[in-house]
Amino acid sequence: MRICRFDDNRLGVAIDEEVADVTSVADRLPPLSWPLPPGDHFIRNLDAMRKAMAQAIHMSRRKALSEVRLLSPVANPGKIIGAPVNYLLHLEESRADAGIHHGTDVKTIDTYGLFLKAGSSLVGPGEGVVAERADRRTDHEIELALVIGGGGRDIPEAEALSHVAGYTIGLDMTIRGTEDRSYRKSLDTFSVLGPWMVTADELGDPSAVDFELKVNGETRQKANTRDLIFNVPKLISYASHAYRLDPGDVIMTGTPEGVALVEPGDVMECRIDGIGAMQVAVRGL
Ligand code: MN
Repeated sequence: MRICRFDDNRLGVAIDEEVADVTSVADRLPPLSWPLPPGDHFIRNLDAMRKAMAQAIHMSRRKALSEVRLLSPVANPGKIIGAPVNYLLHLEESRADAGIHHGTDVKTIDTYGLFLKAGSSLVGPGEGVVAERADRRTDHEIELALVIGGGGRDIPEAEALSHVAGYTIGLDMTIRGTEDRSYRKSLDTFSVLGPWMVTADELGDPSAVDFELKVNGETRQKANTRDLIFNVPKLISYASHAYRLDPGDVIMTGTPEGVALVEPGDVMECRIDGIGAMQVAVRGL
């Protein structure tokens, strides 16, 4: 199932070139009171929501996907976890390009661990990215992103994939410079998820997935998740040994080679096999 959010916080199921509006299903979520439980309320109740959405599809109104404004498929992730330098060819380009390394000795994820991106940076493809720092290089990073379903701590690699609710395309936008990643990668609109969340059963095995990012029709990044240094199960296990994972937490798995700058007016076309494609416009302030 391809679950999306669109327009004015509508809930949808993407089917071919249309979206079925199943917003009424969200009314069946259990009521909340303060303090809120950790994690995303919809993802925590995903099993029940899926059943209800599957029934609601038949009576739903449909809209063309091309006519809706897609939001992040996860509304309230408790954490957006990033994987620094998780492809070897991205390590090589980072070491070769002063515009990326800024005088630092770039290493891989084994050395850095993980980083966190602010929740306030999250948008969907229909909202676009703001490249507001005209004085700085703003780069695209396409990444396979996964959404945690059942959370937990100290999750063994062998069980890790059973903790995945689904997958989305992720853009880990970044300004290059010497500051900490949590600063450079957390500007407003610098975390894009979309076009929808494909449930884990539908994508299947994430270990050899092709993906590509074009800017204004020109291919910039083209890679396969088989080249991840820490693959999806290892990332989940590794993250869960540092942080309790909650339903709706997002892990962006890292970007391959080909990162480059974008400017206001550019359009990023992102595609991941088994998920789909999305267009994300870049604008100035
Ligand atoms: Mn990244």
